[in-house]
Amino acid sequence: MADCQVLWNNVLDVMKASTNEAIFQSFFSVVHPLSFNANKFVIKVDSPLVADWIKQKYISVIENSLSNSAGTNIQLIIQCDGFENDSENEISASQAKVKNKKTFSSNLNPNFTFNNFIIGNSNQMAHAASYACGQNPGRSYNPLFIYGGVGLGKTHLMQAIGHAAHEKHNELNVLYISCELFLNQYIEAIQNRTLAKFRDYYRSNVDVLLVDDIQFLSGKVRMQEEFFHTFNTLHNEGKQIVMTSDKSPQELKGIENRLVNRFEWGMVVDIQSPDFETRVAIIHKKLEQFGQQFDDDICYYLANKVRNDVRKIEGAIIKLLGFASIQNEPVNLEMAKECLKNYVSTHAVTLDLIQKSVGEFFDLRINDLRSSRRPKAISHPRQLAMYLCRNMTNCSLTEIAQSFGGKDHTTVLYACRKIEDQKNKDEIIRQQLATLEKNITGSVQ
Ligand code: ADP
Ligand code: MG
Repeated sequence: MADCQVLWNNVLDVMKASTNEAIFQSFFSVVHPLSFNANKFVIKVDSPLVADWIKQKYISVIENSLSNSAGTNIQLIIQCDGFENDSENEISASQAKVKNKKTFSSNLNPNFTFNNFIIGNSNQMAHAASYACGQNPGRSYNPLFIYGGVGLGKTHLMQAIGHAAHEKHNELNVLYISCELFLNQYIEAIQNRTLAKFRDYYRSNVDVLLVDDIQFLSGKVRMQEEFFHTFNTLHNEGKQIVMTSDKSPQELKGIENRLVNRFEWGMVVDIQSPDFETRVAIIHKKLEQFGQQFDDDICYYLANKVRNDVRKIEGAIIKLLGFASIQNEPVNLEMAKECLKNYVSTHAVTLDLIQKSVGEFFDLRINDLRSSRRPKAISHPRQLAMYLCRNMTNCSLTEIAQSFGGKDHTTVLYACRKIEDQKNKDEIIRQQLATLEKNITGSVQ
């Protein structure tokens, strides 16, 4: 029989891959596996709040994952001092749901649905393509490649496709996997000489394959080879493939051309940072999910403070709720300010600020950076500035190109590649970048 800790480690892998870091850290660090006997898996949780949260939100994902690893249906029992575990009925209900579902485990987080996704200018295209994909997997947009900075909703959208595909076409096997976990399974399969089984699992069983953070393939030649063949087999059979990445296919480094080429076969869409209204709407949605409400001034305060990363917005809400519950008082604006004072700085890096800092450093006017003048004394700082804009903000290539006097996005792409290349060869460039980054982050502290 599988060992309790081994089973739990699998659950942690799945949860790590399918929840965000704030949730993973706050919830799963206080959970300990206790025993596994007679199809009952017992965990001990140190906080009643967390116990309740796990019961509400994650029980079916966890039971699914345990059942999948152990090859038999498993019921999760949560033990916690001060936690009313009179939920045998509810748990059994959820268990019944799991039984009715296919035994194939999709690893989907139940919260990442289209219903819970707020649409704004920054993600409209990505949402539309994902939605179409979920309705007609394998038909429209295959593969679908979603890219954008951290915490902007790529994993959420990708899993929403999985939920929609499964709802609409119950017979389809949907599988979500982080690229990292895919790699680990591959390495394990090599070590255990079970490659044939590994291949068969992905190539014959899966109808909708969702691979998250594909940039992780970078530099891993054998893994790329493996994925290339899996991709081809699935694609040939009209199976849907969705991938996410922090960079566009063209920007990915260390990935074979033939693979990059395939990434671009279907539809490539990006997600950008949400604007103010979208951030406020996202905050409302998150609060609704947590069964909470904040006054408008607190929502606006949050939306202004935490700009570029939706995951951080969620982290801020969780932190604020925790803060209020420790103080045993309802959330108020003062509390929000106190609790989030450290959130302020790092998100305030803007394109303007970067251009201003680079201009000061090289003693140039911002207008020179935004012009099309080509003397090296101007073009080099301009390229550095473009590179920094790409790496220090979540702005898209097009937005960056716009901010440099309406250039084409390929100009930014070219600048980023060139600086990346020079950075590896030239100590002076490395120093310039380090100083500029320090100046920029320093000026928003
Ligand atoms: P990424 O994969 O791009 O790093 P995630 O998909 O993990 O980001 O999103 C981070 C968190 O932000 C998740 O909890 C997700 O639900 C939330 N989120 C991101 N975008 C939206 C959105 N448009 N509407 C609602 N929640 C969102
Ligand atoms: Mg993600």
